[in-house]
Amino acid sequence: MRIGVVGAGAAGLVSAWLLQDAHDVVLVEAGSRPGGHAETAQVEVDGGVLDVELGPQFFFREGYGGLHALLNRLGLAPTLQRISMSVTLGEPQGTLALPPLSLPALGQLLNMKSLGQLLWFVRFGWGGEAVIREQDWTLSVQGLVDRLGAPRDAAEGLIIPLVAASWGVSVEQARALSAYSVARVMGLRPTRLPHTHTVPGGLGAYAHALVTDSPRLTLRLNSPARALRPLPEGGLALDAGDRVERFDAVILACDWRASAAACRDAPALAEWSRAFAAFEDYDTTIAVHRDPRLMPPDRRLWQVGNADLVPGRRPRNTVWSGVSVGADLFRTWLRPGEDAPPGSLETRSYKHVLMTTEHHARQQALARLQGQAGVWAAGMYTDGVDNHESAIRSAVKVAQAFDPEGERLRWLAERVSV
Ligand SMILES: Cc1cc2nc3c(=O)[nH]c(=O)nc-3n(C[C@H](O)[C@H](O)[C@H](O)COP(=O)(O)OP(=O)(O)OC[C@H]3O[C@@H](n4cnc5c(N)ncnc54)[C@H](O)[C@@H]3O)c2cc1C
Repeated sequence: MRIGVVGAGAAGLVSAWLLQDAHDVVLVEAGSRPGGHAETAQVEVDGGVLDVELGPQFFFREGYGGLHALLNRLGLAPTLQRISMSVTLGEPQGTLALPPLSLPALGQLLNMKSLGQLLWFVRFGWGGEAVIREQDWTLSVQGLVDRLGAPRDAAEGLIIPLVAASWGVSVEQARALSAYSVARVMGLRPTRLPHTHTVPGGLGAYAHALVTDSPRLTLRLNSPARALRPLPEGGLALDAGDRVERFDAVILACDWRASAAACRDAPALAEWSRAFAAFEDYDTTIAVHRDPRLMPPDRRLWQVGNADLVPGRRPRNTVWSGVSVGADLFRTWLRPGEDAPPGSLETRSYKHVLMTTEHHARQQALARLQGQAGVWAAGMYTDGVDNHESAIRSAVKVAQAFDPEGERLRWLAERVSV
């Protein structure tokens, strides 16, 4: 078959990587590089070069079977990295470092209010485990906090603002997120040491490796898809970049907005267009910079993730990207309207899907349409929670319709996490 794939993020790249052996695959991408959210900047620090992730950065041992397998197969074996977190609360509590592995960090914990809040945060983690077991998407973060009976101090002072900082959303938006999605993404299991992995060259290198390992693939960069329409003789016409091409099937692996727009003018794709348009999103801007003023005031308490939860302002997270060499290099989720710190090295703005309690129902509506009129949908937002493994799994599910016996598909389907 001749298959068009729209969007060279993880979902589109993996779909193409799985199908290019058995089919003629053309991947069209609006931007000038493959990877989508997966993007890595190489930044000079003290005479060396550091890989700084601009999009996805954190992935665990569990729940990322497909990503680990792909990275190892592509020769990019990931290295385990311990992570830690600080939360800066109002005075007199100051900054709490977690885990508290230094004397100043232990000193900061000697406060009954802080200890009480932290214990409730651990209970929230356990509560999240139960929600994961029940696979209940319909309980909100606020609903879980209420179900646990967390006191106001803990809920409003730590738990909900910390979720808001981690997603770059407002406190009100954080309350409405699905507790299931939050628990799965944050990996809140209190029994597990917080960790992530690093990849040589970053996740940008992994995106390029997927292209290199797809020798039969035609990749067209700078080719935004504008419209899709079923043809009377069968197949679909895809208007993208500088041409209109005919395909037997099209996999829309771009975001929900671009997918809705591409289907909008074709009456036969009206249901598709409505299903895509139902998803909610929010704007977030991230800056990579060298300004330590966005970090906790006491440098001895700096951690990998640093949440500013001081009451009266929107929670905000800053990742210490230069932690491995102790360099002043950071990544901050800016508040709406906030200017990037002077001399910022990179800024990126994203429309991020908002995984509320209705999100799973929207995914199910989309799943019921798969294959209708020769159209398929892939992408992190279409399957599971808001993480990279979902993008990979969505590609596996779509590819199963086209090449169920393919070596790559059988190999990845056995490894991808559910
Ligand atoms: C800031 C940020 C941090 C994140 N952090 C993490 C993390 O730490 N861990 C984790 O597991 N996940 C994280 N994620 C989730 C991340 O979205 C997924 O990991 C995954 O990379 C999404 O892949 P995707 O293919 O679904 O979408 P995308 O990466 O968004 O790919 C969609 C592609 O479609 C292209 N496109 C859009 N419109 C068109 C068009 N009209 N025509 C052609 N192409 C088009 C886009 O340019 C893009 O390349 C993060 C996301 C963001 C934004």
